[in-house]
Amino acid sequence: MAAGRPKQFITLAGEPILLRTIKTFISTGLFESILITSPASHLEQTQRMLAENGLQNRCMILEGGQMRQDSVKIGLDALPKGTHYVMVHDGVRPLVSQQIIKNCLAMAKESGAAITAIPMQDTIKSIRNHYISHTIDRQNLWRAQTPQAASVNLLQQAYSLAAEKDFIATDESSLLELLNCQISIVKGSEENIKITVKEDLKMAENFLRQETGQLRIGHGYDAHRLVEKRKLILGGVDIPHAKGLLGHSDADAVVHALCDALLGALGEGDIGQHFPDSAPKYKDIDSLKLLAEVMKIAQAKHCHVNNADLTIIAQKPKLASFLPQMQKNLAKICQVDNAAINLKATTTEEMGFTGRQEGISCHCVALLVSEP
Ligand code: MG
Repeated sequence: MAAGRPKQFITLAGEPILLRTIKTFISTGLFESILITSPASHLEQTQRMLAENGLQNRCMILEGGQMRQDSVKIGLDALPKGTHYVMVHDGVRPLVSQQIIKNCLAMAKESGAAITAIPMQDTIKSIRNHYISHTIDRQNLWRAQTPQAASVNLLQQAYSLAAEKDFIATDESSLLELLNCQISIVKGSEENIKITVKEDLKMAENFLRQETGQLRIGHGYDAHRLVEKRKLILGGVDIPHAKGLLGHSDADAVVHALCDALLGALGEGDIGQHFPDSAPKYKDIDSLKLLAEVMKIAQAKHCHVNNADLTIIAQKPKLASFLPQMQKNLAKICQVDNAAINLKATTTEEMGFTGRQEGISCHCVALLVSEP
């Protein structure tokens, strides 16, 4: 792939391919031990990657052999005594699902050996001298994937026989076939691709994006003037202060900034478009109600809030003690955990309109996820 490093260390959605693969296997809770064979040149890097992710005690790293078959043999020989079943998987098939792993192991336990495969969709041509010689009936053709699982005993026999016959294969089932034993097929998936060329990485990224939904970011900014005889309401919290913010609604600049960030992420313009300050029904309205309206728009567009980060700029009053309540108010309406809403307050060291206490402003960025 000309990436200057082995494929297993290339990152897919921010995570090395091999790490994603290992995590999926661990998350099934089915495995006593996980053995990884690595080229000698990358043993250290593999070790470091596992340690950085707290997985060094879950996996054993072995120096692999010349060919795939040699590496699997090394792994097979290193299995802890008393291991009954073994599953072999390509480190560069990071999109394998828990379900496929479970199905494959269950089937191997039933019949002794099972592999993951998918039916052939394309029409297959046999070629001779650059011309088609004939078409192969695809009815009974399946493409082998991994994982492939078998009883340890059976796979060891297969490897011994292959060594005797000098037989080299590209997957475990080809060796098992030497034993004439029954090997079951478990349906894999088109997503369980082996990342071999650049295009595969693109495809894997697309599959992941479909799974996690599309991310949409938005930014919001609001400022209101501080005047006498107005309540100071920020993030839905009534804050004791000599002055309050002037506006058509309750002038809650924090909620307004959040609303604008959400509307921005939704591609829905801004708060003024949706709740015009010429409309009497919004006079002195609790801005949390406007936020609830914005969330309805998000829901109609099948979007939910991933997180939001807000910075309130005010010289006075001190806001730190009110932030937790603001966080609760906003998180509740956004239907997220409190931790998904981050609030900060800063002064501008008496510079500018906020510094001179003429007003209070707020910035917000919000990330939405649109459901696939
Ligand atoms: Mg406003």
